[in-house]
Amino acid sequence: MKAYRLFDWQTPPRLVDIPIPEPGSGQVRLKVAGNGLCQSDLHMIHDWTESPPHINVTLPQTIGHEIGGWVDKAGPGVSGWDKGRAALVTLAGCGHCDACLRGWNNYCRGKPIQPGIGMDGGLAEYVLVPVGCLVPCDGLDPAEGAPLTDAGLSSYHAVRRVAPVLLPGSVAVVIGAGGLGHLAVAALKAVTPAEVIAVDPSPDARALALQSGADRAVEPGDDTLPRHDAAAVLDFVGAAVTLQSAFDMIRPQGHVVMVGRGSGELPFTHRSMPYGATLSTTFGGTKAELSELIALARSGAVRPHLSRHPLDEVEQVLNRLAKGEISGRAVIVP
Ligand SMILES: [Zn+2]
Ligand SMILES: [Zn+2]
Repeated sequence: MKAYRLFDWQTPPRLVDIPIPEPGSGQVRLKVAGNGLCQSDLHMIHDWTESPPHINVTLPQTIGHEIGGWVDKAGPGVSGWDKGRAALVTLAGCGHCDACLRGWNNYCRGKPIQPGIGMDGGLAEYVLVPVGCLVPCDGLDPAEGAPLTDAGLSSYHAVRRVAPVLLPGSVAVVIGAGGLGHLAVAALKAVTPAEVIAVDPSPDARALALQSGADRAVEPGDDTLPRHDAAAVLDFVGAAVTLQSAFDMIRPQGHVVMVGRGSGELPFTHRSMPYGATLSTTFGGTKAELSELIALARSGAVRPHLSRHPLDEVEQVLNRLAKGEISGRAVIVP
């Protein structure tokens, strides 16, 4: 089968032929329907010089971690995953830390596992998946579901975090309406009564936000933006300038969530935000949230804006992603 594999750090991966892998105990083999491309694939290819200590990446490794597919073969000891069933792949926690015990597999304090990060990923015709990473995707095209596992889930988890403060009449602001932000807009409209304002310098991103259900989409610095009147601000950029604008927009007891990893820094003092406001980061989302998101996608309430590309074009598409030329999410269909 064809697989897009990273052989050395900071050296472009290559599309090579390798044997179709056999599922081991507790694994299934998925026929990949689609694999969404992510900024973190670019980080892994261009920026990493060694494996981050918590995930143990050994090279060569097939990259790609936004995976949807159909069960092709179940390994020994696996039941309930019949051939042909559609599934999405997410991070499996260790199952026994305090976070996992409460269902927060995305905040696992042990050693989480996920294909594409520490084991072969989805930019291939087939991928081996530990059953703990599978979430059923019945009734939804798993290629369309692939971006839900990362872009969608990170957005939806942030929306779930702020949903308790979004009441009728509340305003929610989404900063950055790209691959993640447009899905946050759709999820906010689907599960909260808030008025949703998207902020993005790109006219294409603003158009995508409106198409995804935003009530308004404006440029950064627009003078109609809330001044300490937004109940929630989701920052999908994470630069100092976007974080400052979040601090300027949030209302007392509001919730700012910094999802973007722009490495922006601001001093956090008693005067940074109005009294009682909260600032948090997030990582991914839970399996339960992924299952809710699949239901929202099945109903049409949340639809990832995606383009499909063959595996042969993966390198060109990654280059376009690096240049910011991809609107929504690019999905590789092997
Ligand atoms: Zn990712
Ligand atoms: Zn755990």
